[in-house]
Amino acid sequence: MAAQLPKPQLNALPLGAHSVSALTDEALFDACGVRIAFTGREGGVSTGPYASLNTGDHVEDDLACVARNREIVLEALGFQGAPLVVPKQVHGTSVVKVPAAGDAPQAMEEAAAGADAVVVEAPEVAALLNFADCLPLIIVAPSGRFAVVHAGWRGALAGIAGKAARELAQVEGEGSAAGFNAYIGPHIRSECFETSEDIAAQFADAYGAELLADARHVSLAQAVSTDLARAGLTRERIADAGICTVCNSDRYFSYRAADGVCGRHAAIAIRRAN
Ligand SMILES: [Zn+2]
Repeated sequence: MAAQLPKPQLNALPLGAHSVSALTDEALFDACGVRIAFTGREGGVSTGPYASLNTGDHVEDDLACVARNREIVLEALGFQGAPLVVPKQVHGTSVVKVPAAGDAPQAMEEAAAGADAVVVEAPEVAALLNFADCLPLIIVAPSGRFAVVHAGWRGALAGIAGKAARELAQVEGEGSAAGFNAYIGPHIRSECFETSEDIAAQFADAYGAELLADARHVSLAQAVSTDLARAGLTRERIADAGICTVCNSDRYFSYRAADGVCGRHAAIAIRRAN
């Protein structure tokens, strides 16, 4: 059985030679070789509303800039040229798995067809998902297997976080996700996330009324944390960056703050070979 992971924490660190600042957990990297990062807007080559580190290729940005920005992120993490699995995110609950490095090409094809989580078992294969207000989640098992998850309100309500944690537990050969670390990145927080009373009520039914600030404001972080807890994660193993993208749209892309025209920041994870 793999050693226990250190308690999760997220710290803003400059990474690599570029001026990429990301939220990361270096103690995790030391313990199990998994480098995680939640990137922001700084350090890339895109301009205008996509300035500068846009990693989303489904917005109107120059695709050459997006490709370079993804390279910059990999270089910053110390994994230049690693294969990168980037799903077409569809607000569903499909999970793509990468059992071995040789499975990366097939996983990329599956991901391109639509998925909102990637479980990576292989070393030196990265999973990158894109965000501008939706909740980015990274789950890491003691062996170094990990999942990167996109939880917008639809995915959060449908249980994508718990599903990814349980699928990761399954490939880990564990009955539950107890002992896994989870990291919640910057996203739209409850004070800015106003939704319909109907949707808010669905969240309360699914995850308890405590996640409602009022009849229309929902805490996605609380929904996801409750979902993870049901999969076996203890609360002390869930780290939350506590940053609102709408309130900090100078540092992070925010769909709501930019009226829909903006880039995407990334949640990314990769494990070194040994
Ligand atoms: Zn806010």
